Amino acid sequence: MPKSKLKIIPLGGLNEIGKNMMVMEYEDDIIVIDAGLMFPSEEMLGVDLVIPDITYLLEKREKIRGIVITHGHEDHVGALPYLLPQLNVPVYSTRLTQGLISVKLKERKALSGANLNVVPPGEQFTLGKFGIEFFPVCHSIPDAVGLIIRTPIGTIVHSGDFKLDYTPVSGKPTDLSRLAQLAEQGVLLLLSDSTYAELPGYTPSERVVGEALDSIMAESPGRVLITTFSSLISRIQQVIDSAAKHQRRVFVVGRNMNEIVRVSLELGYLNAPDGILGKLDELKDMPHNKIVFVTTGSQGEPTSALVRIANRDHRQLHIIPGDTVAISATPVPGNEALVARTLNSLFKQGAQVLYSGVAQVHVHGHGSQEELKLLLNIVKPKFFMPIHGEYRHLSLHTKLAQSIGIPRESTFVLEDGDILELSSETARIAGKVTASNVYVDGLSVGDIGPVVLRDRKMLSRDGIVVLIIAINRQTGKLVGRPDIVSRGFVDTRESREMLDESRDLVAQVLNHSGDRPAEWSFVNTKVRETLNKFYYEQTKRRPMILPFMVKV
Ligand SMILES: [Zn+2]
Ligand SMILES: [Zn+2]
Repeated sequence: MPKSKLKIIPLGGLNEIGKNMMVMEYEDDIIVIDAGLMFPSEEMLGVDLVIPDITYLLEKREKIRGIVITHGHEDHVGALPYLLPQLNVPVYSTRLTQGLISVKLKERKALSGANLNVVPPGEQFTLGKFGIEFFPVCHSIPDAVGLIIRTPIGTIVHSGDFKLDYTPVSGKPTDLSRLAQLAEQGVLLLLSDSTYAELPGYTPSERVVGEALDSIMAESPGRVLITTFSSLISRIQQVIDSAAKHQRRVFVVGRNMNEIVRVSLELGYLNAPDGILGKLDELKDMPHNKIVFVTTGSQGEPTSALVRIANRDHRQLHIIPGDTVAISATPVPGNEALVARTLNSLFKQGAQVLYSGVAQVHVHGHGSQEELKLLLNIVKPKFFMPIHGEYRHLSLHTKLAQSIGIPRESTFVLEDGDILELSSETARIAGKVTASNVYVDGLSVGDIGPVVLRDRKMLSRDGIVVLIIAINRQTGKLVGRPDIVSRGFVDTRESREMLDESRDLVAQVLNHSGDRPAEWSFVNTKVRETLNKFYYEQTKRRPMILPFMVKV
């Protein structure tokens, strides 16, 4: 009977959507599952991306046997280019996933030196004391897998992202028979995708979208523009299939999407009849009803092709009346406003716009309640831990588990950093490790902390006031009145008097500070105190105040 305990530690993806990352640790071996990123929420001003904090992993670097990736979506692979160079461990995935990872690593110049391994579903491989097998799951990207992980204390099933589509467009349906087989021998713990645990019933099949696309291609009098995630390869396949049926040619717009299409074609995960894919410079003289564009921008991302097109800011493409635009994706929570803005400007330019709520142009890639229950029923785990979701999703998912007979005390809702400690008989939440957000802003990773964000919030709320204070080098006394420059605080013309008054106030305070030499820390604090109070009285605002001292 093994004495050691197995630790399961989510470093991302629990009580949030995105940046999925999970650590499994047994004695001297660690495996990591997924390394995803998250797009910043609105209050993370100016932040480009959010990735998991891997302090815990860096401390135990020599124990890490590898990173196992379930599929090629950003929220599962997006942090690799930032984390892999620090960890320098092998990565295991299926073939398409590896292709997509290579694209990501190459973009960030992190490909050379990376140890990427392809493992086909069904094959087993060993990482330290962990025996791992991929099983196919159906999701909105081909080659997605769940994991069967054999450990010295029992078998663990990790669902990855999945749904139970029996008529998937590309890729295989979720392999339930393999799981049923496994359940006969007993599964200690099931970790299962909670993203859509709120939705009753079943998630509709991708086929539904195929039918919607067919009618759009058939009925639109002019050009058709389909927007989706660049990683939604099965959707791109549907667009190609439908275009072929209706004698339209497909033009992929945008660098990232073109890269992904290229890799998927090369690896055989995307099939396009000869000549159907065109380049934008071939557009000239083509009849409008023979054209389909595929672009990114379904989330209203400012630099995406669709948003540039909507803003008449795209080099090659403009909306012309008669165009039909279909948004084949739903906004990720937090992006609604950006998406709405994009829709409005597309309408304004005379396009017909179709989106969820108006047409069945998207189904998502995650199982709804009945599918989640089915998986629970088939796997029949001793313990259950919901993953991938905000607290309410995780919580609802445990309710589903309880509804099929898993006792409440055998279900565990964790948050990032919590440790689930397991033996072959017991499970409990035992302690916490560091797990927070690491912000990526432009070229820098991790140097944006809470302090920088607080400053940005302050600046965005009440603006900034800069004071230039001239001090006589010999006497240490103030020379003249301080100069004031402000941005985003008040209208400088209308509030000239008030600003002037504040200059006098600072001069007064500094002149009356006795014979004290004008020491920087004193001036700094005194000026801030005085102005904070004065500006708040005058305006009820608290701008950031930045005094500068120059010796003259
Ligand atoms: Zn996914
Ligand atoms: Zn996901």
